[in-house]
Amino acid sequence: MRSCPGQLVVHRDGTVAYCTQETAGRRCAGEDHPHRGGFFACRVVDGDNCSYCAAAPEDLDVLTTTAVTVVTSTLAPVTTAPG
Ligand SMILES: [Zn+2]
Ligand SMILES: [Zn+2]
Repeated sequence: MRSCPGQLVVHRDGTVAYCTQETAGRRCAGEDHPHRGGFFACRVVDGDNCSYCAAAPEDLDVLTTTAVTVVTSTLAPVTTAPG
């Protein structure tokens, strides 16, 4: 599977917000592809100013933080792959 060199930004509920490749004007390999830049919570990137997450329950914050940590460690071997 092709990997994307960008960073995937996700909302608190785990929904993909966007890929940094897209905001940089480049093509994203796909939100379901491995991202070598890893995952970021949208509130980190946008300074907790996300309208999507503002409407989401606060309780999901902890769950998403855990999920992001697990996914990042799972993808770790991919970041060392050539290309
Ligand atoms: Zn958000
Ligand atoms: Zn991407």
